[in-house]
Amino acid sequence: MKSIPLRWLIITPFVLLALIAGVLMYFVSTITISNIANHVGEQYIKEVESRIDDRVRDFIAPLSDILKINRDAFTNKPELLNNLTPIATRLYEQAIPFEHMTFISVATADGRFLASARDPIGKIQHNIAANFIHKPFTMEGFNYHPKHNIGIKIETDPTFNYDPRERPFYLDALKAQTMTWSDIHPYYGQATLGVGLSVPIYDANGAVLGVTATSVALIELDDYLESLELVDNAYIFLAEENGALIATSSKDALYNITEGTYTRLNLNNHPDPLFKIASQHLKKGSYQLNLDGEVYLYRVSNIKLKYGKTWLIGILIPSSYHEGILTEYTQTTIFITLSLFACIAIIGSTIAWYIGKPIQQLNKAANDKKVESILLLPQPMSRIREISSLNQGLHAMAENLLDILQHLEQKVSERTSHLQYENENLLESSLTDELTTLYNRRGFNLVFEKAFNSAQNKAHPLTFVLGDIDYFKRINDEFGHTLGDSALVAVAANLKKHTRAAKDIVARYGGEEFVLVFLDMEAEQVLERLNNIQQEFAAVPVFENQHITMSFGLVDLKESPNASAEALIEIADKRLYQAKNSGRNKIVG
Ligand code: GH3
Ligand code: MG
Ligand code: MG
Repeated sequence: MKSIPLRWLIITPFVLLALIAGVLMYFVSTITISNIANHVGEQYIKEVESRIDDRVRDFIAPLSDILKINRDAFTNKPELLNNLTPIATRLYEQAIPFEHMTFISVATADGRFLASARDPIGKIQHNIAANFIHKPFTMEGFNYHPKHNIGIKIETDPTFNYDPRERPFYLDALKAQTMTWSDIHPYYGQATLGVGLSVPIYDANGAVLGVTATSVALIELDDYLESLELVDNAYIFLAEENGALIATSSKDALYNITEGTYTRLNLNNHPDPLFKIASQHLKKGSYQLNLDGEVYLYRVSNIKLKYGKTWLIGILIPSSYHEGILTEYTQTTIFITLSLFACIAIIGSTIAWYIGKPIQQLNKAANDKKVESILLLPQPMSRIREISSLNQGLHAMAENLLDILQHLEQKVSERTSHLQYENENLLESSLTDELTTLYNRRGFNLVFEKAFNSAQNKAHPLTFVLGDIDYFKRINDEFGHTLGDSALVAVAANLKKHTRAAKDIVARYGGEEFVLVFLDMEAEQVLERLNNIQQEFAAVPVFENQHITMSFGLVDLKESPNASAEALIEIADKRLYQAKNSGRNKIVG
């Protein structure tokens, strides 16, 4: 099986994981990014919506609160209406805290009218308007302005006869018989729209005592929408249900003035083409608008004000913004994820290297055929306990092994020399006759073959002699086998004595039969030596005064130089037989 390096085992899964994660994240993000962007966009819009809703409600709330207080006061104390002059102070004080409160008024059923009024932008002080009093008011902190006192106007200008009961706020309140909104309208000569609320005042019997009303400039809402820092190219608007604009986040005016006629801007006639498209969707809901290839998330929601008025909040945000943020976010996430995987792979690779390198060294040393390679490994090899311990174990094993090997070599050489010795002994004993220490038949054959071949090849002299002890049987019979043996030993000694140890061959050919081979010696000399042998037998007893004689058959190689060794032996054997037959103790050659 193919082996895998530890490093790859660690790096490969992380690289694969990083690739898979990267590809998956890319696809998932591409597919879902626009959905998420829309969702995020909607959440954002909803959050803005709720802020606007709160702001509008907070802005509108004082109107009804003030009217309720005034209505309840007059209902409970109708006599207050009989003398309106002191009421001016009260209306004035009510209006002061609200910057854009344009007027708070009360009109009686008999046509009297009193209002604390001011410029709708709220930059100048309030004035008291009254159609029943012609002299200046005296109020602390209040500057009388004759122009605004409609009482004087009525007195001096016969065409100006201000009857509040003919005004829409009065008629609308009586018609509704409850608190009611006036139409949103541009203030004359002012760059803002206003909205009014009025409520009828009844006495305990239900008879109409009058109407109290208030009006507020909507500029604050317009400023508020403008102040909301939305994304680039986003729009917010407040509009009535028919699309007539109340406030927008843009700086554009909310109405046109042509020849002194004010025309409120509606989404459907707005110069901005985006508002025109938006005007097609005025029902509560979420839409996607496409303007010149740019997609806008568009959401319409309702603000249901009390007393039957509903306004619309419209918010338009280009989808590209959230997609951009999400794409950036996703790219960052992908980058961080891939970087993390890369870091893990690098760390893993370093750890693998840290673990793998010493293992590789161990492996190399263990696979090397020399035990010393293991002993040469650095000690300690690694800070990793397991590897260090493995190295120590291998080291100890190598030391043991080396020790064993050295002992083994010594043992083997000892055993070898012993075997050699034994072998030599064995060889010697297999070639030597135990009793006489002469060559036995096998030993003889071995040395004779060589000597014969050499003599024959070189034509050197070689005389082959067979000798046999005469009547040896009798010795055995008479003196026993042991003495017979000693006789054989004595015979061998005699034969050895008369041959040249370095040159000639003496062997026990079998039983009491011996062979003598004389090399490089002429036959006469051989005969002489055989005679000497016989003479020594005659002179020296082999044991206890016992003499033996010996018969010899000899043959000179010169007689038949090409004869085989066997043929030569056969001749000698025949001659020995002749020597026996001719009376023994003879030499036949
Ligand atoms: P011949 O003169 O005809 O040679 O008579 P011989 O008695 O010597 O001849 P034979 O061959 O009949 O007898 C040989 C004897 O040698 C027989 C055997 O008992 C004796 N012999 C052979 N080997 C040994 C030996 O190793 N030790 C002893 N003690 N006797 C041996
Ligand atoms: Mg014999
Ligand atoms: Mg014999």
